[in-house]
Amino acid sequence: MTGAARHFVLGLILLLAAGGIIGGLYGYVERGLLVASLIALFWQVRNLLAFERALHTRDFEAFRLGEGIWQQIFSRFSYVSERAAQRKLEYRRLLKQIRRSTDALPDGAVILNENNDIVVCNRAAKRLAGLKRKKDRGRRVDNLLRNPKLVKLLAEDDYMQAIEIPSPVTDGNWLNCRAVPYGAGQKLLILRDVTERNRLSKMRRDFVANASHELRSPLTVISGYLDSLTEDPAMPAAWSQPVSQMRAQAQRMNRIVEELLELSRLESGDEARSDHVVDVAGLLTAARNAVFRDGKTASIDVVIDSSAQLRGSSNEIDSVISNILSNAVRHTPVDGRIVLTWRSDSDGAELSVEDSGEGIDAHYLPRLTERFFRVDKGRSRDDGGVGLGLAIVKHVLSRHDAELRIDSEPGKGSTFSCHFPPLRVIVDPPIPLAGERSSG
Ligand code: ADP
Repeated sequence: MTGAARHFVLGLILLLAAGGIIGGLYGYVERGLLVASLIALFWQVRNLLAFERALHTRDFEAFRLGEGIWQQIFSRFSYVSERAAQRKLEYRRLLKQIRRSTDALPDGAVILNENNDIVVCNRAAKRLAGLKRKKDRGRRVDNLLRNPKLVKLLAEDDYMQAIEIPSPVTDGNWLNCRAVPYGAGQKLLILRDVTERNRLSKMRRDFVANASHELRSPLTVISGYLDSLTEDPAMPAAWSQPVSQMRAQAQRMNRIVEELLELSRLESGDEARSDHVVDVAGLLTAARNAVFRDGKTASIDVVIDSSAQLRGSSNEIDSVISNILSNAVRHTPVDGRIVLTWRSDSDGAELSVEDSGEGIDAHYLPRLTERFFRVDKGRSRDDGGVGLGLAIVKHVLSRHDAELRIDSEPGKGSTFSCHFPPLRVIVDPPIPLAGERSSG
């Protein structure tokens, strides 16, 4: 108990005692006590009303001096309210600083509540997407930046995903959008201008496509002459080996040019159409048969554990299968085994190629889908590899919203799995598994 509280209680007791004693002297102890209580009550009510009035008028003169309990209450009250005012000031200053620093950011930042209404946005959000700080506060961002991809991004809460949408402010400009969790139930939408980056990558793509296109015609002429020379019985024997080497190299260059053109086409197109149906089981079986026709290989089994089909491009999925399968064949000895599997469940569908070949060292795995990356360049060149196959696979899969997973262990073999999300899978009708297995 503080000194003031002690005084207050003591004063109260003394007042009641005095009331009791004076009342007792006249033979009315209870009345004396009652009068003393009423005086105490009157006094406190008076002080309470005065304090309440002072709160309204903010004139605390009467409470500023003295040691009584009401002065104590006032000093405590003024200390707390001063601190609250100070904190408010600090928060305001901090908020100003945060706003100034987010305004200095080159990227647009928009804070959204759980309904995707705008809570606050920075200056760059206005410059890039035309969002107005005051006017648009409380409005749904997907109503202002109308784009189906953005609606999907915000609905899915997939914080790893980034999308690109055309700028609503400048024709021809592009914005990269990403949403990250922010505070309780809120999101931070980050908008980045990727126009220049896209322009440069288009320039690179166009250059590769044009160069490949220009190389195609002279290469066809060279290959044609080399083919004729190889078949010409009049060709001197000494030329036979150099000509056949030139022919093999011309064929290799042809393959590089064709695969570069294929990559450019995949890179510049939109995502694969979803209204075409791909019979993956049929493609796997056909790919296995084609490899068998080509010559001596490891044994190849096809395991079809699903009747599901895919929405996408048949040619592109066929190219995925043949690229992964031809790699497996080239890297697996003839006494090894390759298994092609097609299965599906509620998480989507999976096409995988498992081989018992040489395997790949773990530190090469992240680089396998880079263009022209080969673990053993010399060997790959000799067995016809150009290092573009897995880059093509990666692009095709990303056009089908799918992912490539690679598991491998040197000396044991590798598994290349392509995982397709449910939106790309047509599960109809389920057929008993036992009747579907085929192997060869
Ligand atoms: P390439 O035309 O050289 O096969 P890819 O892009 O298809 O090019 O493959 C890149 C590299 O990945 C290959 O050069 C090879 O080193 C490695 N690779 C791919 N598949 C396998 C596999 N099944 N087993 C071992 N290594 C593989």
